Amino acid sequence: MIAEIIAVGTELLLGQIVNSNSQFLGRALAELGINVYHSVVVGDNESRLVAALEEALSRSDVVITTGGLGPTADDLTREGVSVALGRPLGFDERVWRDIEGFFKRVGRSPTPNNRRQAYVIDGARVLDNPNGTAPGLIIPHGDKTVIMLPGPPGEMIPMFERFVADYLKGRGAGNGIIHSRILKVCGLGESSVEDNLGDLMGLGPNPTLAPYAYPGEVHLRLTARGESIGEARALIEPVERRIREIIGEYVFGSDEDTIELAAGRRLRALGLTVGLGESCTGGLIGHRLTQVPGSSDYFRGGVVAYSNEVKMAALGVKRETLEHFGAVSGETAAEMSEGARVFAGSDVGIGVTGIAGPSGGTAAKPVGTVHLAIAGPRGAAHKRLALWGSRESIKWRASQEALAMLWKYLAPGKDAG
Ligand code: ATP
Repeated sequence: MIAEIIAVGTELLLGQIVNSNSQFLGRALAELGINVYHSVVVGDNESRLVAALEEALSRSDVVITTGGLGPTADDLTREGVSVALGRPLGFDERVWRDIEGFFKRVGRSPTPNNRRQAYVIDGARVLDNPNGTAPGLIIPHGDKTVIMLPGPPGEMIPMFERFVADYLKGRGAGNGIIHSRILKVCGLGESSVEDNLGDLMGLGPNPTLAPYAYPGEVHLRLTARGESIGEARALIEPVERRIREIIGEYVFGSDEDTIELAAGRRLRALGLTVGLGESCTGGLIGHRLTQVPGSSDYFRGGVVAYSNEVKMAALGVKRETLEHFGAVSGETAAEMSEGARVFAGSDVGIGVTGIAGPSGGTAAKPVGTVHLAIAGPRGAAHKRLALWGSRESIKWRASQEALAMLWKYLAPGKDAG
């Protein structure tokens, strides 16, 4: 079975919103073993939408649209599909009652243009939308199917999971399923990962192994095709074991794991707590640590010590250190990490100071210079980073490196990291 995704919305073309629906659908269809060869974005324009639908129907068995089901005149997906299939739209009383019911539940009244959303293609199966007003539609058309889903991900995803996945499975979906497992690596660049894994990198066709580089991390995606999820997992498992034998000390997690989660797991396992003294990251490390449920077990708190005065007053950084070595220096970072430990009453302290730019750099300390320091029961550790990119990306990378450094510092059987 071949499926094609059409995301409808001018704001997608203009880059005003990220096309996360196509990302979700691409992954979900792959997991059902359905091939996707084309994924298209089209603006709110009826003739271009009709052309996209006609082309999709000429080369795919199933066409899934998202968006453009709203009540306003620029929501054209219903009309476009009606034209492309040559099938009329009719007012559906039951759908209209559901829409009225939704408005009642949220304490509002429908406007006359909401009636547009009760028009369905003749012969379509209507998919309930408890999270919004626009129903979805499954429209069998000869040996093809068009599936229309709403744009907001909070409406589209539950509808796909509740109705569409089963419908596609019922239609025979693909030959078995495709399952992926992601191993996440930090402390080794993409080329070192490839070097270390040698022949494994050319692996395939089942499972395949592909590396993806992200800021401060490399993800290794293992993908297998099988009759069942169990069969796909059995194909992946020995390769995963081999990867862990070779570079296991750099693998901090899998699938949805994050470096903040991995660092938190090690803190918890060792019964240690952490405190922060953050300058250029402005609280980002604290934010990321506290994104993890249960982080109060090991995260004590921190100080955003942006000015020299706060570095001195809250973290006990010495005036002479600031005057002699500067606010962005290994010495200041080290005193910040000690001060964070004292301030937060934690076992481990992290200090981060740097120049996020775009101004403020010098020849000796260009924009992107960041010093990280850790103080704790395993001694002191320091790292100087030379980052590049926008202010936002430097801040993000600095937080990433700090969390990775913490994770490594806590590695089993390691002294200062
Ligand atoms: P509704 O009638 O429920 O508003 P709709 O089907 O008309 O939904 P659109 O008007 O196209 O949907 O989009 C509504 C919102 O849904 C967008 O502003 C955006 O926030 C989100 N959205 C739409 N398409 C996508 C997409 N492809 N990926 C992620 N979000 C999307």
